[in-house]
Amino acid sequence: MMNIEVNGKKVQAADGVTILEALNNAGIKVPTLCHMKGLPPSGACRICVVENAENGVLMPSCSFPAWEGMKILTHSPKALAARKTIVELLLANHPDDCLYCDRNNNCELQDLAVEFGVRKRKFSAAKNNYHIDSSSPAILRDPAKCILCGKCVRVCEEVQAVSAIDFVRRGSRAMISPAFCESLNTSSCVNCGQCVAVCPTGALVERSSIADVINALNDPEKIVVIQHAPAVSVSLAEEFGIDAGQDINGIMVAALRKIGFDKVFDTSFTADLTIMEEANELVERIKNGGKLPMITSCSPAWIKFAETFYPEFIENLSSCRSPQQMMGAVIKSYFAQKQNVDPSKIYSVSVMPCTAKKFEAERPEMIRHGVADIDAVLTTRELAKLIVRYGIDLRNLAPEEADTPFGTRSSAGKLFAGSGGVMEAAVRTAFFMLTGKNPESPVISGFRGLDGVKEVTLSVSGLTIKAAVVSSLGNAKKILEAVKKGEAQYHFIEVMSCPGGCINGGGQPRSVDRQNVIKRLKALYAIDEESELKYSHENPDIVRLYNEFFKKPGSHLAHELLHTHYTKRELLK
Ligand code: SF4
Ligand code: SF4
Ligand code: SF4
Repeated sequence: MMNIEVNGKKVQAADGVTILEALNNAGIKVPTLCHMKGLPPSGACRICVVENAENGVLMPSCSFPAWEGMKILTHSPKALAARKTIVELLLANHPDDCLYCDRNNNCELQDLAVEFGVRKRKFSAAKNNYHIDSSSPAILRDPAKCILCGKCVRVCEEVQAVSAIDFVRRGSRAMISPAFCESLNTSSCVNCGQCVAVCPTGALVERSSIADVINALNDPEKIVVIQHAPAVSVSLAEEFGIDAGQDINGIMVAALRKIGFDKVFDTSFTADLTIMEEANELVERIKNGGKLPMITSCSPAWIKFAETFYPEFIENLSSCRSPQQMMGAVIKSYFAQKQNVDPSKIYSVSVMPCTAKKFEAERPEMIRHGVADIDAVLTTRELAKLIVRYGIDLRNLAPEEADTPFGTRSSAGKLFAGSGGVMEAAVRTAFFMLTGKNPESPVISGFRGLDGVKEVTLSVSGLTIKAAVVSSLGNAKKILEAVKKGEAQYHFIEVMSCPGGCINGGGQPRSVDRQNVIKRLKALYAIDEESELKYSHENPDIVRLYNEFFKKPGSHLAHELLHTHYTKRELLK
């Protein structure tokens, strides 16, 4: 440990840390913009400057190592003035569009302008005259609001291994863009939304479907149904200033009814359905010499990543549609039949933690006989805005249950929201399919937690099953490369595009605090712990759906409605 002095007080710091880490560990806050915890510092924005108390020199705390005996001032007049000037310079060519901006009241740049008392324009530069890129089905890019912090570029390259965007041009013309200043839809972008999650301003936001949903709600001809993904109920409360990790499932259902949705379904139900189909597919592949390793298919950004960068693994992908799309399919088939309505009269909305689900819903494979299975996808953040728009106070709502026939879920289905959850749920049911009984303990701890790569070897009924769980596309790339080179062998791999899984998806409440993601994960484990229904194959609504409709997992009808296929994509050269 080192002894340092901060603002005249003695503080201890671990050897080798940066000044910023030393300050954060001691609970002292300095603002940051370009800093990304866990990645090497870039020092791009300089907002974290602190003053060397001995010589008055300003240092970027994120990229300067702390040293024994160091004396620094974090909020000296000089440091504060420098930070204010940095914000004033960042605003010099900013559109000042706050009232019309998606990030109004939730913008790091706006917050810093308030923090440093920037109340008038000090430097006046020509406003950037960039067009808004609305080409992507998932993401809207407004380069005029970009402050060139570089976080999007880093997350896309260093975490997701996609490199769809980068700095282009130089000097005052520098901007973030796909190659050749093309639009995002022609790039290799997989729509994961991790860039949106880290962007401090309104330069990158999800493409909103709120107006479409409100139009459908106002259309008396439409039956408007909504499904909510497993990750949404454990994070939505954060958008209303409530501590992370609170499960508000029943209150959220009540809010959706108050907004006017005719039916509220739980996507965890079709997570159970996915498990029935996927576990059956895995058992068939293992028993009959099918393509292994089988790789999960419920994360649409991962599917586009595989189609684009690893088409040689397309046959390894499970043919199961994602839970969102399975729900869309059963709503417009089984549910429509039961209600005796034309599927085209049903407007099917989903609330997802994920921006890539917007892209998935528009895939041509997900449109049958000219009718889309999902008509609109809202992110968790958009749902929060919808709740505010309808004047609903979550604190004054009594919890309600989701609707039949897709309202009952097992806690295995709920676990889908965290990295390892699909695997744990699938193994519970695959064990049953192979042995006719449930495992001694439903919890498989090796699949749990936020580690980017987890491996477990299981022994089931004389079979040895080697499984891997990866989250983030960068980790997926590492595992696929190891499999390609013969350095790793697995029967089953779970891939989630976002680090930690859907709880940390690109459509979730923005959180710079990893502790919030851990709290969301813990909430899922608590739900599983308390649940009396822990196995997808024991979900009574699932059993009824097979008895009345699909007959058995992998049946002809199940293949028609619940499975899909994938296509190799060409990369722009
Ligand atoms: S990015 Fe922030 S500062 Fe810029 S217009 Fe939007 S809310 Fe205002
Ligand atoms: S959505 Fe994902 S893949 Fe696309 S630019 Fe952003 S980080 Fe990269
Ligand atoms: S788009 Fe957002 S994250 Fe990317 S450089 Fe600009 S401000 Fe930073």
